[in-house]
Amino acid sequence: MNIAFIAHDKKKDDLVTFALAYEPVLQKHTLYSTGTTGQRITAETSLSVHRFQSGPLGGDQQIGALVAENKMDLVIFFKDPLTAQPHEPDINALIRLCDVYSIPLATNMATAEILLSGLKRGEFAFRELLKKDEEEETGTHGA
Ligand code: PGA
Repeated sequence: MNIAFIAHDKKKDDLVTFALAYEPVLQKHTLYSTGTTGQRITAETSLSVHRFQSGPLGGDQQIGALVAENKMDLVIFFKDPLTAQPHEPDINALIRLCDVYSIPLATNMATAEILLSGLKRGEFAFRELLKKDEEEETGTHGA
């Protein structure tokens, strides 16, 4: 599965703790992140992450583009609800796209834990089926 991680500054410690706790599960998947979040994950865990731009510089939109192409299977986005963000429109756009494409999205650790439990149990198999259907319809491969 392709999994994206984003954490606002005050939530980055929590995300690193989360990534460490789920390292054995996450190692089996392809991980993406916004710039600084990915830097922290790479430095503080053994996970390797494809890093996009920092969130305020377009990273949320880059992840959104993969959601729109049906290439992202899960988005873990530790949002800071108590601090205004300069790129609020990008954040809302990413959340909206997850809803448009029915992509599982966690915006806090409690939901993220539940989604990761589902991932461990194989409950994301529906994503592979959806991608396979889409490939058959469009004649594309390799999503
Ligand atoms: P960052 O971006 O990982 O580069 O800090 C996250 C954000 O603030 O949206």
